[in-house]
Amino acid sequence: MDNIKFQLFRPGHDMNLLEKQPGKPSYDVVIETADLPEQVLQTVQAYQNKVIHYLHQIAWLDGLARWTITKTLPSQFIKYFGKALDVYDESVHYFLGYLRRQGIAARCTPGCAHCCCHMPVGITTPELIYLYYGMHRSGIFPRFFRRCMEAEEEWREILQQCSCLPPGETTNEGMRERTLNSYHCREHFCPFLQNNLCQLYPYRPIACRMHFSLSSPPWCNPSHFQHQHAVRFNLEPGENVFAALEQIENHLQLKVSDTMVGGILELSVNVMRFEEISWIN
Ligand code: SF4
Repeated sequence: MDNIKFQLFRPGHDMNLLEKQPGKPSYDVVIETADLPEQVLQTVQAYQNKVIHYLHQIAWLDGLARWTITKTLPSQFIKYFGKALDVYDESVHYFLGYLRRQGIAARCTPGCAHCCCHMPVGITTPELIYLYYGMHRSGIFPRFFRRCMEAEEEWREILQQCSCLPPGETTNEGMRERTLNSYHCREHFCPFLQNNLCQLYPYRPIACRMHFSLSSPPWCNPSHFQHQHAVRFNLEPGENVFAALEQIENHLQLKVSDTMVGGILELSVNVMRFEEISWIN
């Protein structure tokens, strides 16, 4: 059984850590698959197997290895990636329904975008390609690109400040977490957000699909006076889903920054030179 984690976290509470991974926030509670009823586990596992199935279909497509030269990918890439994300979303809805019946109800509502001032991290190359595809389909690629540049400047400024800390005061992992927290507190909203709506919603990465709040949504705003008491949770996919994404990344032979903005800029400038990807049947 692949390990699926339900992680509860509160900002500013650094106690009782059961899990700590580089670049990821600290969690107060981690409920692993072992704590869930068998039938729920089986259903979630069936969803995840389907996600992995679609991702494997992509990994074995012809033409991935030379795509950075040809700027061309098989159109099935988009088809299967879209299906994998749809199934992942279905699994999240199923699991949220289960949690609701247990008295744990997510309070997120459409139009709430407080979590969109986090910098999404841990983004893989296939997710960036899907997002890049969405940026071009939007018809306003130049505007999105300009906003990404602004976000990257802000991110680098914070990174610079954090790297000026005395040696030994923080580890690399701690520095990454500090940078993420500082970025969040500046309330610099995502380059793809407009009128509190994600303009690339169908193309957003998995990191943007897994956050939920149990407390009142405005508390997620870092400047809200109750922010320290906000209770949020992540529904993180199993490790095999990440392994399948990495497998595609290996076949694509491209690894760029895993921050959403840094990765999309590298892809746009260094790899695609602003061109659209050509899709062949
Ligand atoms: S990509 Fe969309 S969902 Fe993700 S942070 Fe940006 S606006 Fe929010």
